[in-house]
Amino acid sequence: MSGQTMEFKTEIKELLNLMIHSLYSNREIFLRELISNAADAIDRVRFEGLTNNEVLEGNDQWKIKITRDEKAGTLTISDNGIGMNIDSITENIGTIAKSGTRLFVDRLKQQGATGNPELIGQFGVGFYSAFMVADKVTVVSRIAGPKEKGVVWESTGDGTFTVEEREKETRGTDVTLHLREDARDFLQEYTIRSIVKKFSDFIEHPVAMDVEKEKKKIEEEVLNSQKAIWLKNRTDITDKEYNEFYKHISRDFTDPAKVVHFSAEGASEFKALLFLPAKAPFSLFDTEHKIGIHLYVRRVFIMDDCKKLLPDYLRFIKGVVDSSDLPLNVSREILQETKEMERIKKGLVNKVLSTLKEMKEKEFQVYTAFFKEFGSVLKEGLNFDSENKDKIQDLLLYHTTNTEPDSPVSLKQYVDRMREGQKEIFYVIGENLDETKRSPFLEKFHGKGYEVILMTDPIDEWAQQWMLEYAGKKFKAINKGDMDIDEKTEKKEHKEQEGRYKDLMTLLAEKLPDVKEVRVSNRLSTSACCLVADEFAPGAHMEKFFKAMGQAVPQTKPVLELNPSHQLVKNLEALFRKDKGHALIAEYASLLYEQALLLDGKKLKDPIAFATKLNTLLSSELDLQIRN
Ligand code: ADP
Repeated sequence: MSGQTMEFKTEIKELLNLMIHSLYSNREIFLRELISNAADAIDRVRFEGLTNNEVLEGNDQWKIKITRDEKAGTLTISDNGIGMNIDSITENIGTIAKSGTRLFVDRLKQQGATGNPELIGQFGVGFYSAFMVADKVTVVSRIAGPKEKGVVWESTGDGTFTVEEREKETRGTDVTLHLREDARDFLQEYTIRSIVKKFSDFIEHPVAMDVEKEKKKIEEEVLNSQKAIWLKNRTDITDKEYNEFYKHISRDFTDPAKVVHFSAEGASEFKALLFLPAKAPFSLFDTEHKIGIHLYVRRVFIMDDCKKLLPDYLRFIKGVVDSSDLPLNVSREILQETKEMERIKKGLVNKVLSTLKEMKEKEFQVYTAFFKEFGSVLKEGLNFDSENKDKIQDLLLYHTTNTEPDSPVSLKQYVDRMREGQKEIFYVIGENLDETKRSPFLEKFHGKGYEVILMTDPIDEWAQQWMLEYAGKKFKAINKGDMDIDEKTEKKEHKEQEGRYKDLMTLLAEKLPDVKEVRVSNRLSTSACCLVADEFAPGAHMEKFFKAMGQAVPQTKPVLELNPSHQLVKNLEALFRKDKGHALIAEYASLLYEQALLLDGKKLKDPIAFATKLNTLLSSELDLQIRN
């Protein structure tokens, strides 16, 4: 087959461009990325080889080799891993962008990558990082299998690449970088040695390079220590080593927020080294997000993204699990179905939840920062892990009408300081803290000294469906259904007002077909009116969710409540007594309803009509002033 020139996918073109121009100060990571790819490729063929010896072709001396050619100005990273053929190389490098690439490129453009290493860290820059140091990259590869053909892929990173078949004797991949003039430093033995030590020391396969020894003798030397850090004693590992290992497996740039290193013994034996990242990656809510644990069986890498190892709601955890009980030579599918896997999962979940609990109790600030990043994901567990629901509820933090910006409270703290006689946990759901704090529903609660939880996380409304009570106290949305926080005398007064306003309310309801009912409110103190949803009506977040899913929003009409102690409502009632058919009554009814809609953060159906009505009113008030 003759050579073929192909175009990079648009996102990849943009990624290349950004990388070359803005990640300059982090260029050295190219080596980490290429070594990681080589190590992944070796892990894959080694795993295949467990059940299909043929792919090994008698070559299982795993090695990643770095070759420097100072004269040619090239650096080559070779591996004897799984390799690629013409189809997979075209697909893997150049034509298919990973999910999340678009988002990443847009963020980089918005914020600028320089000085923003966290941004880069949230996305494995992978193979393309080679173009940060090279103006041409040549990949020669041959996929595992005795009869397979080799392939050569080449690009100058200018938007196109070529591929063609080429003989290659051995399985594996050689990535050759033709270094840019200003990147020749990466040919130095010292530079390479220190980058490998820094980023790839833990890679369990040898990363080797020819180095000059005494008397100009060239010898191959292994540059990394290849230590499986998770098998070592905690006391023998420094924070720096933990952090570097974390960065290696997560490809994050930021240090983790917490390290959890433990051995499980008894029913199930495994070692685990888990990390809680400090920052949430963009891909956290991708439909294709991965489970961040790498599974090993007796030091042999088996797989990552193992869905049976950790529930989805803990997908932010990164790390390694090494089991001594799982069978080695079975397929990944069979492995995932074993009872042992279930036991490991249980052990991991318990450990993660107890670590979070401890953090919350002993390092509240660190926990608050963690919760800000990952609280939304954790809440998914309220539905999907009913067994641990109580533990998860205990991990939740909320802002309330009484909290300071940096110190949210737990449900326990809320319940412990509930006002005497308070039977329910009051909450209100809103878009953001500022807006929610101004909600008219809070007026009376505030006046009476009740604390109300302000739920502003978009997932809260969904999560509330699974949280009916906590510590025997029911949750109560203060903008829904009936309210019962009044004293006896207030209740009596409310009854009287209901009687007095009955006819007016019936008339207003007739004038307002979009509301279910108009009634006298017992929840307002300064606002004139508000809209109250049905106890089971979907709120604003759920409405958005239904719309985003292309589903019809279940329609329930709200109730319009009027504040009988507001002057406007009092006057309206007085006018009604004087002249039940007065034209202004209908006009005011619709203005009050529209005002309540606005207070609820909703859009008006007909804003022009609203403005016209308002203007007529305003100008009649001015008329009055002028005439007096
Ligand atoms: P990532 O490694 O995060 O998937 P990359 O851009 O680094 O992203 O690589 C894209 C894909 O190319 C890899 O997933 C892998 O399938 C393939 N690949 C890269 N390097 C190698 C290699 N040395 N051997 C075999 N396959 C490789």
